[in-house]
Amino acid sequence: MLDPAGGRDVEGMLCVAGGRIVSEVPSGGFEPVIVDARGWWILPGLVDMHVHLREPGGEEAETVASGCRAAVHGGFVAVGAMPNTTPPMDSPGEVRAVLDRARAAGYARVFPCACLTVGRRGRQPANLAALAEAGAVAFTDDGTTPADVAVLQAAMEEAAALGRGVLDHALDPEAGGHLHAGRCARALGIEGISSAAEYRMVERDLELSRRTGCRVHIQHVSTREAVALIRAARREGVPVTGEVTPHHLALCEEDIPGRDTRFKMSPPLRTAADREALREGVADGTLTVLASDHAPHPMQAKQQAFERAPNGVVGLETALGVTFGVLVGGGILRPLEWVARWSVGPADILGLERPSLAVGAVADLVVFDPERLWTVHAEQFVSRSRNTPFEGWRIKGKAILTMREGSVCFADRAVFDRISQTR
Ligand SMILES: [Zn+2]
Repeated sequence: MLDPAGGRDVEGMLCVAGGRIVSEVPSGGFEPVIVDARGWWILPGLVDMHVHLREPGGEEAETVASGCRAAVHGGFVAVGAMPNTTPPMDSPGEVRAVLDRARAAGYARVFPCACLTVGRRGRQPANLAALAEAGAVAFTDDGTTPADVAVLQAAMEEAAALGRGVLDHALDPEAGGHLHAGRCARALGIEGISSAAEYRMVERDLELSRRTGCRVHIQHVSTREAVALIRAARREGVPVTGEVTPHHLALCEEDIPGRDTRFKMSPPLRTAADREALREGVADGTLTVLASDHAPHPMQAKQQAFERAPNGVVGLETALGVTFGVLVGGGILRPLEWVARWSVGPADILGLERPSLAVGAVADLVVFDPERLWTVHAEQFVSRSRNTPFEGWRIKGKAILTMREGSVCFADRAVFDRISQTR
């Protein structure tokens, strides 16, 4: 049992009854289902705080239901839903609609991250108080960031007053380009995106956080300069956090096989040195969150010229295995630290109850097989979309059971083989 909230990495038995973790099997009335989980790891309910569910408006790519089902298959009990839908999630009605769809779907819990500005246009702050009242846990214009500093400052002041954080896609909205401004972009004759397009926005965000006291979370950090800025600001006491995606941890521009749009995302894959800095940032606790930035797109949208194809890769069903391999397999994090970055890290930013395996906690949990070898085949994804840069990857480590409030949302065949009903 790996339980970062309680600092526990122990072997033992875990009992669930009535939707909660309990100290012993209740007596009488029913026969317990017993799973022999030797060799497997029990983790608290993992949270992927950066997910695009695409509904409304992009149902061909994903729906709330298909995305939530992909999440539990990938080992996540909760997701943070991004607001760049059509229409965008900038009104209380849109927030409630996402929550209603999630309730109807079952599977993963959904925590709406609503728009920071009206229509994500960056011209005026959205009605953050009303959005929070409707159930928004954080605010972001993800996909872009407000270009107008005064607008961002006003929104951050309001978010701070509400006790909620701002999640920022810190990339200069004026910057063009489709790949990191480096060797690969030059070789392919594709316009580049500089590192400065990211770290200048991070500098701006840090300054506004100092000024307003608003908690700011830098989404999908991709450059070594941004890691250094966040590290220094955290030492200084600025309430800043940062996340890193599986693809930015596992890949770099050298891995891009030509004009393959499965490798086009925002921010882009940077250099090997940037990837190394991201790994160091995760190792030393500068980056406290892992998040997939699951960004599904229909096949025909990605089958366009590189410059025209949309940004983004799917990630819910590969994120755990890829990060486990790079970080734990690579000796960068201990297992408990890896679990923390998928659980208490995001929960603290979104203001959620910390996922926990303690007696009395809600029975949200994941069983992970650290030895399971599997191959990524996009055609087998539960997600409606297939745009992964990890096709054909041989991965070690997989979620084999996901439980929400004591109910099994997903279980691999291996679990059924280990069930017995005798004490
Ligand atoms: Zn983004």
